[in-house]
Amino acid sequence: MILIDGKKAAAELREELKNEVSQLKTKFNKVPGLTVILIGDMTPSQIYVRNKEKSANEVGLKSEVIKYPDTVEEKTVLEKIEELNKDDTVSGILVQLPLPKHIDKQKVIETILPSKDVDGFHPVNVGNLSSGYESSVPCTPLGCYLLIKKIEPNLSGKKAVVVGRSNLNGKPMTQLLLKENCTVTITHSRTKDLKAECLEADIIVAAVGIPELVKGDWVKKDTIVIDVGINKTDKGIVGDVAFDEVSKNAKALTPVPGGVGPMTIACLLKNTIECFKRSQI
Ligand code: NAP
Repeated sequence: MILIDGKKAAAELREELKNEVSQLKTKFNKVPGLTVILIGDMTPSQIYVRNKEKSANEVGLKSEVIKYPDTVEEKTVLEKIEELNKDDTVSGILVQLPLPKHIDKQKVIETILPSKDVDGFHPVNVGNLSSGYESSVPCTPLGCYLLIKKIEPNLSGKKAVVVGRSNLNGKPMTQLLLKENCTVTITHSRTKDLKAECLEADIIVAAVGIPELVKGDWVKKDTIVIDVGINKTDKGIVGDVAFDEVSKNAKALTPVPGGVGPMTIACLLKNTIECFKRSQI
């Protein structure tokens, strides 16, 4: 079984991006810029944002974090986004989720210019992805996709089962696999026989949020299994896949932690660079 090392893959991707940023700097005499808006003092969000800033600096991006208290008015945030939309030094804008209840998440997402939407959440980017056009792609599924392609460069005709249909993970993952000519089944909480669906799969991507939902006898030999789940349990952090059981059957499997997680931030940097490149055309 191939243990898919997300940390190593993310480090390799960051190295590639660092070289690309250096070439862009020579060509355009400027570097891509990422601005993150952080509202409130939720510890996980603070940690994510700190890691994003550190990684952005590491690859040579111009990075900035704008912080607001969780009492900030929605209007103030929207005005700041409008200002960043007009700022040529800002290639990508990310508003760290979740937001305080009084701020309308969808309004925030839709205020960010689609061309600066590094999270790929704007309806224009969602539509472009599902139409097969160029777009920003949500970072976690993009990371999963790159890991799958490392194991199996030609996905044409493969049967893929995506477990979970969130806008963040399951739906964009489905679109990426479709684009690669996979036959994709998207499953969810009302799916009648999830085990039977999974047993058909050459590729399984689990993004559910239920500890160890996907069992060893749900996976046929030679399946690539990508575990997006991050679940806190008494045993510590576990994924949506029963790792020990599934590793006996799978061809390749991501561990949790150390699988999909590290790729997410690297893909945010990749998206920022792509936004910059598109803005220079
Ligand atoms: P979400 O928005 O809660 O969506 C969960 C999906 O799972 C829903 O579509 C739900 O179906 C489906 N589901 C629930 N119970 C199910 C069952 N018994 N069988 C099949 N499907 C079921 O979750 P999310 O935001 O996509 O996150 C999923 C997991 O990924 C979480 O553990 C989260 O922490 C993790 N995550 C990891 C990263 C990373 O960087 N590694 C990033 C983001 C999220 P319905 O639509 O029918 O309700």
